[in-house]
Amino acid sequence: MSLRDYMEALLGLLYPQERSCLSCRSSLPEENSTWNRNGPSGDWPVSLPREPVAGWASEIPLCPRCQADLIPIEPPYCLLCGRHIEEPGRCPECIRGSAFVLSRSYGKYEGVLRDMLHRFKFSREEKLLPILGSCLCQGWNLHMAHFSTDWLVPVPAHPKRIKERGYNQAERLALHLSSYSNIPLLPALQRQIHLKGQATRNRQERLKALQGTYVCDPAFLDAVSGSSVLLVDDIYTTGATAEACARALMEAGAEQVYVITVAR
Ligand SMILES: [Zn+2]
Ligand SMILES: [Zn+2]
Repeated sequence: MSLRDYMEALLGLLYPQERSCLSCRSSLPEENSTWNRNGPSGDWPVSLPREPVAGWASEIPLCPRCQADLIPIEPPYCLLCGRHIEEPGRCPECIRGSAFVLSRSYGKYEGVLRDMLHRFKFSREEKLLPILGSCLCQGWNLHMAHFSTDWLVPVPAHPKRIKERGYNQAERLALHLSSYSNIPLLPALQRQIHLKGQATRNRQERLKALQGTYVCDPAFLDAVSGSSVLLVDDIYTTGATAEACARALMEAGAEQVYVITVAR
C-alpha cells in the first residue's frame, strides 16, 4: 500500500461517504448516493428535474423530495426581470425600464433553494456550491445561452463581508458558470461603501442608497468598453443591486448588460 493509498483510506475513515440529502439530511437512495468527500463522481453540473439539458450527469446529492422542490420558474416571464407573471409583458416593478436588457433566474427564492442559498451565503457551506452552481448553469441554458456574451461579471461584495463569510458567493457561482459556459470571468466591478442591512427598504430606497456603490475597476475599462456583459448574482430581490451594477457597467461603456441569478 502506497502512502497515498494509505492516506486515502485514512481520510475515508475520518470522513465517511456522505449519504444524506444535502438539504434535509434524510438518507439518499442508492442510485444517488455517490457523493463523497471529493464531490460527486459524475461531472458537474448535474441534472435537475424538468427540462433536463443534454450533458448533465444524473447524480445529485439531494433526495427526490428536495430535488422536486428545485423547479425552474414557469413562463410567462416579465420581459425585463424574469418574474413569473400571468399576462405576457412587464411586471409593475419594471414599467419604468432598467439599465440591463433583461434578467433571468433559475428558480423561486423559497423552499429548498432559499435554504441552500442562505446556508451558502451565511454559513460557509461550500459543499452547496455544486448544486447551486448547477441551478445557475441550468438557468443560463434555459434563458441566456443564445445571447452572445463576452464576460461574466460577478456582483462584488464588500471586503468586510468577504472577511466575515470567507468568500463572495456571487464570484463562486460565476466561476462555476464560467467553467461550464466557457465565458471568461471578469471581476470588473468594485464595491465602495459598506451598507447596513437593507431588507426593509423598497426598490427605490435601495437604489438611492446604492448610488455610487458600484464602480468599474479602471483596470478593466478597456475590456468592458463595447462588450456584452452577463452580471451574475445569487439572488434577485428588488432588482436594485442588479440595476446599480448594470448602470456602473453601462457608464463604463458596456454595450449591453444581462443579469442572471440562481433565484428570485
Ligand atoms: Zn432532502
Ligand atoms: Zn419585472
